[in-house]
Amino acid sequence: MTDPALPQGVERREISGTRRLATRGDPVYGEPTDGEWRAWNPQRSKLGAMLASGMDTGLEGGETERVLYLGAASGTTVSHVADFAGPTYAVEFAPRPTRDLLSVVDSRPRLFPLLKDARKPETYAHVVEADVDVIVQDVATRGQARVALENRRFLADDGRLLLAIKARSEDVTRDPDDVFADVLADLEGGDESEGGYEVLETQRLDEYHVDHLGVVARPR
Ligand code: SAM
Repeated sequence: MTDPALPQGVERREISGTRRLATRGDPVYGEPTDGEWRAWNPQRSKLGAMLASGMDTGLEGGETERVLYLGAASGTTVSHVADFAGPTYAVEFAPRPTRDLLSVVDSRPRLFPLLKDARKPETYAHVVEADVDVIVQDVATRGQARVALENRRFLADDGRLLLAIKARSEDVTRDPDDVFADVLADLEGGDESEGGYEVLETQRLDEYHVDHLGVVARPR
C-alpha cells in the first residue's frame, strides 16, 4: 500500500519477515529482496533514516523529479533514489567508491555519476540541469554548510535540500548539538550572491546514525 509520507516508488513492504522501506531495482549492497523489490536499510543510509523517521522530505518520486546527490560514495543510497526518481546526478570525488558506483549505473539509466568535488560546482555545472527539485547531501566532511550553499545555485526556488550533518566531521571535540546549531546558522546565512536556506525541519538520526542530524531546508 502507498504511504502518503513516502515518495512514489518507495513503500513499506514485508521482506524476509520484516516490514522495511523498499524500492524497485537491482540489489546493490547485499540487501534482502522480494521479487523486484529490495530493502532500503536506514542503518546504511541517512536519507533512508530520514524517511524511516517520518521526516517530510518533499520527495515526490516519478520520472520528472530531478535530484542532485552530493557524496554518493559507492551508491548505497543514490541507487535507491535513482530507483524512484528521474534524472539523478551523483557527485563523488573519491575514485575508489566511484568505480563501484559505475556498476550501480548499469541497470539505472537515469543515474549519472560525476567524479567531481562538491566544493567546486562550476566543474559540473555544464552537466547538471538547472532547477533540480532536490539536493541530497551526505558528504561527511568539514564545511558541510558551505557545500550546501555552493550548490544552492542548482536548486529550484521551490526545491528542497535534504542534508545529513555529521557532527564529528566538523569537530570531534565539541558537543554535537553545538555543532548542529553552528551548521544550521551557516546554512541560514549565505552571502548575498548565493543566498541561504530556510530550515523547515530537523531531526536527530541517532537511532540509525550516531551524532547525525537530518535537515530539510528550502532556498530562501
Ligand atoms: N551517501 C552515501 C550513501 O548513503 O550511500 C554515503 C556517503 S559517505 C558518508 C560520504 C562520501 O562523501 C564519501 O564517499 C566521500 O568521499 C564523499 N565526499 C566528501 N567530500 C566530498 C566532496 N567535497 N565532493 C564529493 N564527494 C565528497
